[in-house]
Amino acid sequence: MFTDEYFMKIALSEAHLALEKDEVPIGCVVISNNRVIARAHNLTETLNDVTAHAEMQAITSAAHFLGGKYLKNCTLYVTLEPCVMCSGALSWAQISKVVIGARDEQRGFINKQLSLHPKTEIVTGIMENECSSVVKEFFKSKR
Ligand SMILES: [Zn+2]
Repeated sequence: MFTDEYFMKIALSEAHLALEKDEVPIGCVVISNNRVIARAHNLTETLNDVTAHAEMQAITSAAHFLGGKYLKNCTLYVTLEPCVMCSGALSWAQISKVVIGARDEQRGFINKQLSLHPKTEIVTGIMENECSSVVKEFFKSKR
């Protein structure tokens, strides 16, 4: 039952919480031993903080939970491909695995030729359509 889709759905529900606050709808969860140890959504408008991306908050929160700065044996599920800032933070955290919903061709780290920690496994395209459509609809409504 603990499939990638199962955890991505929780990340997507976080994205919807962001949407309710009129934030760019991106959400994520950190999983350790099939348990959600951190969940977060984008709060850059609410906090007036450009660093308040979902991933940044989830990394901090997961480290607090674990009582250590490294997220070894942890998996991050995120609805949109992390940006350069977040991929840097994930790299410092030495997270074991990152599962991405939709790609972000413009701002994501993959097209910037960046990689995460050498031991970090990366999976893309889990519930891609659901994850990208929530962001697309958001920007469409802004025009
Ligand atoms: Zn980011």
